[in-house]
Amino acid sequence: MKKFPRVLVVEDEPAIAELIAVNLRHGGFEPVCVEDGDAAQRALDAVLPDVILLDWMLPGVSGLQLARQWRAQPRSKDVPILMLTARGDEPDKITGLDAGADDYITKPFSTQELLARIRAVLRRRAPEQVRDTVAAGGLVLDAATHRVHWRGEPLQLGPTEFRLLRYLMRHPERVHSRAQLLDKIWGDHVFIEERTVDVHVKRLREALGAAAAMVETVRGAGYRFTVQSSPQNE
Ligand code: CA
Repeated sequence: MKKFPRVLVVEDEPAIAELIAVNLRHGGFEPVCVEDGDAAQRALDAVLPDVILLDWMLPGVSGLQLARQWRAQPRSKDVPILMLTARGDEPDKITGLDAGADDYITKPFSTQELLARIRAVLRRRAPEQVRDTVAAGGLVLDAATHRVHWRGEPLQLGPTEFRLLRYLMRHPERVHSRAQLLDKIWGDHVFIEERTVDVHVKRLREALGAAAAMVETVRGAGYRFTVQSSPQNE
């Protein structure tokens, strides 16, 4: 039986990797440090980690490419990914989230913040053990198997999009503000900006394809799940 949550740390700068590893151990995690994408893939093939800490700038395959790659693999698609980036500008952060990262941390970061964010992504996974199915407008969501079907066809959703859809489907025909969604989906997470909700709603709509119109934008208010869908103008 596993004692501590396993964190795969993909970081090519030894000093930073060591700092992270020490703090993870102190924080009750089991770090596994690798320096590049090949080593990361081998570690991931050997034992599936609970969380991946992924540096953006790596020799060879970039962190961004790795995130996309792991999101596309059935085995690793549900493992939360936190991207470490030295870049502070918004477009890059959004690119990271679009690539499948659950969150990002900008270097330099405090170790307290790092641990808090890792705990947050782990907490977000915990309540999903409950078996229940929600169905509306041709969408069927099974919380136990993490499967979503639309009109019998399987859809591929990331873990955050899955929780977002589950929450919206459980509370249909109601407008949820970004702040409310952050509170309900992300929990007591003080570091995430409200626009993160928009990023995940965008990804959710992409994953839903033809069913995307059921996730409505209510201008100036937030989002609403409705089965009386009509063509949307964004
Ligand atoms: Ca680096």
